[in-house]
Amino acid sequence: MSTRYEKTDVILIGAGVMSATLGALLKELAPDWEIKVFEALDKPGEESSNEWNNAGTGHSALCELNYTTEKPDGSIDIAKAIKINEQFQLSRQFWSYLVKSNLISNPQDFIMPIPHMSLVMGDKNVEFLKKRFEALSNNPLFQGMEYSEDPEKLKQWIPLIMEGRNTDEPIAATKIDSGTDVNFGNLTRMLFDHLQNQNVEVNYRHSVSDLKRTKDGMWEVKVHDLDGCRMEYHKAKFVFIGAGGGSLPLLQMTGIPESKHIGGFPVSGLFMVCNNQEIVEQHHAKVYGKAKVGAPPMSVPHLDTRYIDNKKSLLFGPFAGFSPKFLKTGSYMDLIASVKPNNVFTMLAAGMKEMSLTKYLIQQVLLSNEQRLEELREFIPNAKLEDWDIVVAGQRVQVIKDTEAGGKGTLQFGTEVVTAADGSVAALLGASPGASTAVHVMLEVIEKCFPQHVKQWEPKIKEMIPTYGVSLTDKPELIQEVQSSTAEVLGLNDKELSHS
Ligand SMILES: Cc1cc2nc3c(=O)[nH]c(=O)nc-3n(C[C@H](O)[C@H](O)[C@H](O)COP(=O)(O)OP(=O)(O)OC[C@H]3O[C@@H](n4cnc5c(N)ncnc54)[C@H](O)[C@@H]3O)c2cc1C
Repeated sequence: MSTRYEKTDVILIGAGVMSATLGALLKELAPDWEIKVFEALDKPGEESSNEWNNAGTGHSALCELNYTTEKPDGSIDIAKAIKINEQFQLSRQFWSYLVKSNLISNPQDFIMPIPHMSLVMGDKNVEFLKKRFEALSNNPLFQGMEYSEDPEKLKQWIPLIMEGRNTDEPIAATKIDSGTDVNFGNLTRMLFDHLQNQNVEVNYRHSVSDLKRTKDGMWEVKVHDLDGCRMEYHKAKFVFIGAGGGSLPLLQMTGIPESKHIGGFPVSGLFMVCNNQEIVEQHHAKVYGKAKVGAPPMSVPHLDTRYIDNKKSLLFGPFAGFSPKFLKTGSYMDLIASVKPNNVFTMLAAGMKEMSLTKYLIQQVLLSNEQRLEELREFIPNAKLEDWDIVVAGQRVQVIKDTEAGGKGTLQFGTEVVTAADGSVAALLGASPGASTAVHVMLEVIEKCFPQHVKQWEPKIKEMIPTYGVSLTDKPELIQEVQSSTAEVLGLNDKELSHS
């Protein structure tokens, strides 16, 4: 077996949407820096970022009920919804910049307009949705949201969901037309094409198996070339671990203090996909329901119009499940191997605390197709099993860590950027809100790891993302300007397109 030794400025591990976004940002900010990417699979965007492995929702809190919680006094807390919406606006601006600069083309290949809706049944839920609507519709970020309890109106909005439904039970929905379906797989592939055009060296079938700090303060990354059957050692000043579910084990290999006392809990997923195009054509929205009691937030059921492989599709789910793998292509040993002396108590504490979640996930795994159909029928009362197939979605590794609020072994549902104190290595853990907020999260990596450059880079960041560092919520004119200019560039005003 031969060995190769090389040196570079930046190494990105993993060819998912996160590394793609960081690479694209850095190429604009520091065009002279040499960047290398190592990806274990033979293509970009094949794990969570693949269009079949996630729900493709441009998360901006227009329809996801778990981002707005009811406070003890009965009012609705919209702080998280505002935060996520503002983060999505950053993504829209960066993607628009890339399109306008001809660095990527054909935005309709990765983003399409689609109404975002929330749908609830029962008195209590209807009351919640009405309050949520009242709280959000006063905020300019959610302008254009409509609310209805009228079954006739709902038949116009969601005929497939209303057909055959018993309307004795109270029902309500909100609808906002400025929602999006994002094909993160296509976006990732387009960004990697762009990076390769910018002389970024992208090495597929190269699996990273170790990271070590060198005496001169750099990182040595051990890479297994799966085709050449040789070991490679690459040195870099900065390493980004964007390996999705594979990030935790790589972070642990760095040995940095920030990597200790962190664990991961994998949650798998399934979607039902409609194989009958006549039914697909009867629905045109992403419709989010309310999570069942005891269900984790990422398993909120939704019925989604999607644009995949140049075709309109209809997906329902995700059904959560348990698999000890950290990646879809991972190993059954992933979970066990991630337990280390420094995180064993954190993991055990989480195990004790999250018994009900584990029970819920096991129940979900054991669901038969008929039981899944029952859940689908809460959305489409007339659904038939023969019209639906099952697809296995991506793995989400939820972060477990000790927190002040939750104590030892607290399960986190968000995204965590873990960086070394000197900013020489950063890892992205967690998966929610996910790809939609990639630009915000990668700007956080840049701020934490390159503080010495940020001042100098700020004008360029603002050229790409005009609202960088600006809170939008109290600036209605700016929101209007950002939404209409990005909609124009990304082709989101084209209603004709959205119905084709
Ligand atoms: C069921 C489900 C639904 C979701 N729905 C949404 C949604 O609607 N909207 C949204 O915004 N987000 C959603 N997400 C989250 C979103 O998919 C992820 O946040 C995002 O794709 C993560 O991108 P990534 O680049 O970090 O990881 P990935 O896309 O998983 O990429 C990581 C890459 O690293 C590679 N890799 C791993 N280990 C190594 C190694 N040792 N050496 C070399 N390469 C390695 C992998 O092969 C992979 O290609 C969803 C996720 C799931 C699972």
